[in-house]
Amino acid sequence: MKKFLVLLLALSLVFAMTACGGGSSEEAADDSDAAAVESVEGQTFKVSTEPTFPPFEFVDEESGEITGFDIDLIKAIAEDQGFSVEVEQMGFDAIVGAVQTGVTDIGASGMSITEERLETVDFSDPYIDAGLAIAVQESNDEITGEADLQGKTCAVQLGTTGASKAMELQEQGVLTDVKTFNTVDVVMNELKTGGVDCVINDLPVTQAYIAKMGGIKVVGDTLVSDSYGFAVMKGNTALLDAINAGLENVKANGTYDELIAKYFQ
Ligand code: GLN
Repeated sequence: MKKFLVLLLALSLVFAMTACGGGSSEEAADDSDAAAVESVEGQTFKVSTEPTFPPFEFVDEESGEITGFDIDLIKAIAEDQGFSVEVEQMGFDAIVGAVQTGVTDIGASGMSITEERLETVDFSDPYIDAGLAIAVQESNDEITGEADLQGKTCAVQLGTTGASKAMELQEQGVLTDVKTFNTVDVVMNELKTGGVDCVINDLPVTQAYIAKMGGIKVVGDTLVSDSYGFAVMKGNTALLDAINAGLENVKANGTYDELIAKYFQ
């Protein structure tokens, strides 16, 4: 028993010494910065995306690979910062939870930086501006903007800012029904085939669908303006700092502008 107590005392002394050691707080901050920079180099991170969101993320018809502005951008950032990425498909509404729990490392999916999401994940600096727009069938002359949505039905993608906006309009008694789908291709098809009166979705993506499939048009003003960021687990400053540093570098060296030219003309 005495031996045990001595051992316990010795252990607690070691613990106390470790806890008190470590120098000044300035040194400690420097140490953690160095660790942050070193720790992502050579690592491979999982990137999750929902690829029915052109030109930000989509499946290339020829190669079958997931590509797009977000994907090329995070790959360029990774290359700049010396880490690797593995891109995988995930339902959009699952991405924030997957980042939060560490199932995936980076959410790169045209994801708007919102107060609500910032409660559970961290976002990189904004990398592009976007916003919500209303789309209707090309032949529709009745809906010319938000003011004409009374009594109408709308399709949206699950878990998106477009879905939140539509639910809000339904709660206010404006929209009579909101149909929610997992992917944006199905949302757009629902509008084109007349299953709903309108779609609320991110403007650049709706424009990409219009260019591809026709039969629909954007009406009215932008409903909500926002910016996209890459999502990482709360407190993962090593990865977040690397993404932000990489973003700054690819903006400075012209790569970012090349990607804008490639995907938005
Ligand atoms: N920008 C929207 C959001 O963050 C839609 C994203 C998406 O559908 N991929 O909710």
